Amino acid sequence: MTTAALPSFIDPARIGPWGMFLEQLERVEPHLGPLAAWIDTLRHPKRCLIVDVPVRMDDGHIRHFEGFRVQHNLSRGPGKGGVRFHPDVTLSEVMALSAWMTVKNAAVNLPYGGAKGGVRVNPAELSMPELERLTRRYTSEIGSIIGPDRDIPAPDVNTNEQIMAWMMDTYSINQGSTQTGVVTGKPISMGGSLGRKDATGRGCYVVAREAMQRLGMPMEGARIAIQGFGNVGSAAARIFHDAGAKIVAIQDAAGTIANTNGINPHALLGFLNGNPRALLDYPEAEAIANADFWGVDCDLLLPAALENQITAANAGQVRAKLIVEGANGPTTPQAEDILNANGCTVLPDVLANAGGVTVSYFEWVQNASSFFWTEKDIHDRLDRVLTEAFQGIWDLAAARKVNLRTATYIMACSRVLEARALRGIYP
Ligand code: GLU
Repeated sequence: MTTAALPSFIDPARIGPWGMFLEQLERVEPHLGPLAAWIDTLRHPKRCLIVDVPVRMDDGHIRHFEGFRVQHNLSRGPGKGGVRFHPDVTLSEVMALSAWMTVKNAAVNLPYGGAKGGVRVNPAELSMPELERLTRRYTSEIGSIIGPDRDIPAPDVNTNEQIMAWMMDTYSINQGSTQTGVVTGKPISMGGSLGRKDATGRGCYVVAREAMQRLGMPMEGARIAIQGFGNVGSAAARIFHDAGAKIVAIQDAAGTIANTNGINPHALLGFLNGNPRALLDYPEAEAIANADFWGVDCDLLLPAALENQITAANAGQVRAKLIVEGANGPTTPQAEDILNANGCTVLPDVLANAGGVTVSYFEWVQNASSFFWTEKDIHDRLDRVLTEAFQGIWDLAAARKVNLRTATYIMACSRVLEARALRGIYP
């Protein structure tokens, strides 16, 4: 991989997830025709903001947290992408996540660029009032670059509706007027959209259903292993289960459980009752070693946690015929080569988990028009957007003889770079 294009603030020896994005760009470049002349634009995030987030802790002392908001590309519209609270957040990670948002939004043809934010914090160590102060100060610090027409944050790992409510409130107070459209993934009572909470998991199901039809895999009885039982993994588990599939293994931070007869995700959620640490105590499944998760006998594997999970070290163990990337960046390019060589189809993150941002777009449109849609409207439109995107990408992959990730990147990067070329360089 070339390091010539690296911004000076990224250490080539510790390039992290941004390096993975650059490799993905290298793979698509030969397929872009004349638009490849513009591809360097994607190697240079448009704007990276690093902010200090000082928080008065409950005991009176002040702690400083590192916050980021990266707007990777704004050629097709305002920035759009979530905010993550996690102790491992780095600038490289937020840059990669923002770039994947550029690709994702263009892949499903939403009128957005790509952005992402994060704070380097373990929210489990904070009290609710500390979490609120952190969220409000972070929002105020990035307030100069976000806004309903500029850049619209949303939930991601460890952020939720309550955090979006604080973000909306803080931004609105600083602006002097209520601005519901500044964030999506809000509570329904303050302008959120029906169907947003489950949208990412539902989207995983929709694209998996389409792929399974074409691969001749029946949904009834399909065996599914899921990594991550948070917002994405648990919603996907419920929707796949209700459609007749069987959840045979679940891995989360607490450990891994398995049952070849299937785990009922509704019953498991009831048992956990908001406490994910109780996973291993669930009586209707057996605990297995974390390392054994990847080799579980299943038809479909759904990584729905963090990036860099399926690597060259474990890709050879995977027995699934289909991988649906609910997480962002869970599969390294080297792992994908191994999976493809073993006959496994990978539905890439930038298509498979686009359901969340698609319903975020619906929420933003509803906020702008102050007219709200029914849940059925949301489900139907989400299904249509993803099914059409899937069909276009599936056909393109067949026509160009490339895998689905490269096809998605061809589709998305062509849209972004065409807009870039038409807009031109100022001055
Ligand atoms: N965080 C989600 C993602 O990675 C949703 C982003 C959004 O709704 O803006 O796609």
